Amino acid sequence: MALDLAAAARWTARFAALIEENKQYLIDLDAQIGDADHGANLDRGMKKVMELDVTGFASPGDYLKKVGMTLVSTVGGASGPLYGTFFLRLGAAWPEEGDAAGLGAALRAGLEGIQARGKAVVGDKTMVDALAPAVDAYDAAAGSGTGPALAAAAAACAAGRDATIPLVARKGRASYLGERSAGHQDPGATSVTLLLDAAAETLG
Ligand code: ADP
Ligand code: MG
Repeated sequence: MALDLAAAARWTARFAALIEENKQYLIDLDAQIGDADHGANLDRGMKKVMELDVTGFASPGDYLKKVGMTLVSTVGGASGPLYGTFFLRLGAAWPEEGDAAGLGAALRAGLEGIQARGKAVVGDKTMVDALAPAVDAYDAAAGSGTGPALAAAAAACAAGRDATIPLVARKGRASYLGERSAGHQDPGATSVTLLLDAAAETLG
């Protein structure tokens, strides 16, 4: 499947729908270890993204960069700049040829942007716990093509999300709780799994 402008727009539209469906769930997760705004933050941002006129962009990369800028300016909190940076870097690295390895490199650029900005590593109980193994799984399966690689990435993302439950948070608002953050699933790891699910459904 071509990784063209229409594909990028399908991905963001599916992500926006999944965020809307799971808005209350994400709010409830953030209520446990944060300030109960993650679902509302992302839903507001993705609704703004859905107002963009996709036909006005020259390339999928340009569109995804604008998605990132829109999220930076509308989502707020910790996750706004982090999701925004992800999409900015993703758009900048989006493969012109639409090949599986190129998509993996773009996803990794997005992950590196999140880590450059937020300084979180795997084990800190953040979205990085889900996204980093997802990108690794993508690369490991990229030889089989975009579809199998995205399916592997989504599965690894969900496993990384689940693995945040016992962890003590070391980054973000949840870290203020110390040991009391253990026993709760990280909201950002949960939303980024929806992003990978959306990718597997629309780009695979
Ligand atoms: P806030 O914490 O400002 O209310 P959100 O509730 O929207 O922002 O997002 C919280 C999520 O952001 C957390 O669940 C976590 O996954 C992610 N997060 C917070 N800080 C970092 C960080 N430094 N690096 C990566 N992800 C982070
Ligand atoms: Mg919050």
